[in-house]
Amino acid sequence: MRLCTFHLARFSKGCSRHCNRTEKEKAMPEIAIKENVLGGEQFCAMCGGFMASHLGPDLFMEGTMQLVCRDCGREYAPHLVSLLDLGASMVHSS
Ligand SMILES: [Zn+2]
Repeated sequence: MRLCTFHLARFSKGCSRHCNRTEKEKAMPEIAIKENVLGGEQFCAMCGGFMASHLGPDLFMEGTMQLVCRDCGREYAPHLVSLLDLGASMVHSS
């Protein structure tokens, strides 16, 4: 894995904007929004943290039905988290 100096300095955060070349080489988890049909108490696939999930759109590891918590989502797929938040606010306001 090749890292730019900025990435080495910051290591896990804030790199993607600065070294696009290494972005694909990083072991970035693939996160997707899927329908959570189980709900209830789950464990995050990434950090193993306990989370109370709800029915409806949620974050999952791509290709699996393993939930990803919002903290990990914000870390690895902030755009997906904002999409979910946007969707939630639209549901509540209607
Ligand atoms: Zn997590």
